[in-house]
Amino acid sequence: MQFHFNGFEPGDPDISDTAKRHLTSGSSGTLPEKVDVLIIGCGPAGLTLAAQLSAFPEIKTCIVDQKAGPLLLGQADGVACRTVEMFEAFGFSERVLREACWINETTFWKPAQNGQATIARSGRVQDTEDGLSEFPHVVLNQARVHDFYLDVMQKSPAALEPYYARQLLDLQIDTSVAADDAHAYPVTARLEHAGQIETVKARYVVGCDGARSTVRKSIGRTLHGDSANHAWGVMDVLAVTDFPDIRCKSLIQSANEGTILVIPREGGYLVRLYIEMDKLEAGERVSNRKITAEDLIAAAQRIFKPYVLDVKEVAWWSVYEIGQRICDKFDDVPEAEIARRSPRVFIAGDACHTHSPKAGQGMNVSMQDAFNLGWKLASVLNKRCVPDLLHSYSAERQAVAKELIDFDREWAALLGSSEGFDAAETQRYFVRHGRYTAGTAAHYRPSILTGEPTHQHLAEGLVIGMRFHSAPVIRLADARPLHLGHVAKADGRWRIFAFSGAEDPAASDSGIRALCEFLDSPSSPVRKFTPAGQDIDSVIDVRAVFQQDRRELAIEAMPPFLLPRRGRYGLYDYEKMFCPDVKGGDIFTMRGIDRRSGCMVIVRPDQYIADVLPLDGFGRLAAFFDNFMIQKNAVSG
Ligand code: FAD
Repeated sequence: MQFHFNGFEPGDPDISDTAKRHLTSGSSGTLPEKVDVLIIGCGPAGLTLAAQLSAFPEIKTCIVDQKAGPLLLGQADGVACRTVEMFEAFGFSERVLREACWINETTFWKPAQNGQATIARSGRVQDTEDGLSEFPHVVLNQARVHDFYLDVMQKSPAALEPYYARQLLDLQIDTSVAADDAHAYPVTARLEHAGQIETVKARYVVGCDGARSTVRKSIGRTLHGDSANHAWGVMDVLAVTDFPDIRCKSLIQSANEGTILVIPREGGYLVRLYIEMDKLEAGERVSNRKITAEDLIAAAQRIFKPYVLDVKEVAWWSVYEIGQRICDKFDDVPEAEIARRSPRVFIAGDACHTHSPKAGQGMNVSMQDAFNLGWKLASVLNKRCVPDLLHSYSAERQAVAKELIDFDREWAALLGSSEGFDAAETQRYFVRHGRYTAGTAAHYRPSILTGEPTHQHLAEGLVIGMRFHSAPVIRLADARPLHLGHVAKADGRWRIFAFSGAEDPAASDSGIRALCEFLDSPSSPVRKFTPAGQDIDSVIDVRAVFQQDRRELAIEAMPPFLLPRRGRYGLYDYEKMFCPDVKGGDIFTMRGIDRRSGCMVIVRPDQYIADVLPLDGFGRLAAFFDNFMIQKNAVSG
C-alpha cells in the first residue's frame, strides 16, 4: 500500500476523505460507580487489556485516559513478530500486515575510511531469522495499533469504549478484604474530569498509565535503574534523499556526529529518524535544552554525509527522554504478604519498565504484559480460577522485563560506544539477539502454570514456558491449509493440542482414542471445569493433529469427542482435526514431535506452552488443571 506521498495524513489510509479517517471513539456520560476492572491509560498496554476483557460481557470493565481522545500520531512504531502473532489472536493481523512497512533487511553503516568524515555501508543482515515466526517484523504508527484495538473493543460482546479526559488522582486500597470476596470492591479511585471529581470503586485496578504512572506511586512502587535519562530526537519525515538504504532499517554511526537509526515507515515514503543525543544529568529535563525540529534535521544531515537529506515535511517530532528502569514487582502485594493476600492493583507496560527505543521493545512488551494479565483477571472474575493465580502476573512478567532491559542496555551500550563503533560486532550481536527483538525469547519458569521439562523430549520444538510456535497444517474436514497456532484466539480459552502417535488414530486402541475417552469422562478437566450449559470447548479447546495424509483418514471413524456439537441445532464442529501440510512443512518434523508416541501440548490462553505430556498422561493432565481451576457443575455427556 502506498500513501502519504502528498503529505502525511493520520488515520485509516483506506478512507479517501481525510476528514473522515479518525475513528470516533469515547464514552459519554459519567463514569460507572462500580466496576470489576478499572484500567488507567489508553496506550498499547491498556488497550490490549481492554480488548481482551471486552470478550467477556459479564465482566464490567472501564478504561479511562487523561487525554481528550485517541492518539493520532507519533510515539512507538516497531511491531515485533511475536506481537503480530498476538494480533492474529485478536483478529487484526491481516490489517496490520497490509498497512505496515515490513522490515526485511537491516543495514549497518560506519565511518568511511576516506578521511572525509562520511559514512559507508559495512553490512546487511536479514532482519529476522528464517522460521522464527510465520509473521514478519513490521513498522506501523502506534496510533494505528490503538485504532485496531479500539475497533475490536467497539465490536466486542461488551461494546467497550474508553472514557477520555479523566485523570486519575489517587487510589485507596482496602487490604483487609479477602481475595475471594466476590462482593467486595476494595479499590477506590478518584479521577478528575472537567474540574469535577469522580469516584469509582473497583474489584481490580490496572495501571497502564505510562512511565510517570500515578498507579505505581499509589501502590508505593518505584522504577529502579539508570539514574539519568537518555534523550532521543525522533522525527517522522517525508524527505528526498540519495541515501540508498532509506527503505531499510539502518543503523548509522558517523565518525564525529553521532548515531542515527533509520526506520522506514508505512505507506512507502514516510521515514522515522531516531537521533541519539547526550545522556542527561540526573534530574535534568530535555525540554531545558530547547531543541527544535530544525536542530534535529541539521544533526541528521550531518550524520548522513555524503548523502543529501532534503526534508520536505516533518509529520511528527519529539525529543523523547527515557531511562532503562524497572520495578521490583508489578502488583500491590509486598513479597512478605504473598501467602496472605492476592493482588488487587497491577501495573503494566511503561508504568513498570522503560526501554530505550533502540531495541524497539516499549510498545511490544507492554502489550505482552497486558495479554498475560487479561485472561488471568477474566478467569478469576468468572470464578474459573483461584485468585492466587494473579500472583503469577508479576512473577512472570517482571522476569521477562528484566531480561529485556539487560538486553536493551547491552545493545544501547554497543551502539553508543564512545570507543568507536565496531560494525562487525554490532552485526553479530544483532543476529545473536534477534529473538529478543522479535519478542520470541520470553521463557516462563516452572510454576503452577508452567510444568517442569520432564517430557520436553516429546516435542523439542514446542518449548515449555515459551510461546506456542505455530506451524502449517491441513484441516482434515475440508483440506484447508492454515497455521495451527491461529486457532488460538484471544478468547480466554485453554488449548490442548493432541499430536497422535504413528498408529491409525481411528483404531480402537489408538492413543488419541484413549485420550478422547478420558477427556469425555467425569474425571477429565474438560468435563470438570466447563460450566453446565456451555459448549464443551468453552473452557478447554481440544484439537488433534494426525501424522497421516488426510486422504488416508476417515473423518467418520474418528473419536466422537473430536466432532463436538454446538449451537441450538447441535451442529457438528468440523474444525478440531488436522493433518500435516506436506507442501508447507510437516509439523511433526518442524517441531520435533515424537512420531512413535505422539504427545499432548497444553497451551495457555495467552498462547504460552504450559506443559508437554505423554498422550496417556491423564493423571498429570488432571493434576495440572486441579492446581488452579475451580470445579463447575459438569457438562453432561
Ligand atoms: P503509554 O503509551 O505511555 O500510555 C499511557 C497512557 O496513560 C497515556 O495515554 C496517558 O495519557 C495515560 N495516563 C497517564 N497518566 C494518567 C492518569 N493519571 N490518568 C489517566 N490517564 C493517564 N517508543 C518508541 O519505541 N519510540 C518512540 O519514538 C517513542 N516515543 C514516545 C514519545 C512519547 C511522548 C511517549 C509518551 C512515549 C514514547 N515511546 C516511544 C514509548 C512507547 O510509546 C511506550 O513504550 C508504549 O507506548 C508503552 O505503552 P503503555 O501502554 O505502557 O504506556
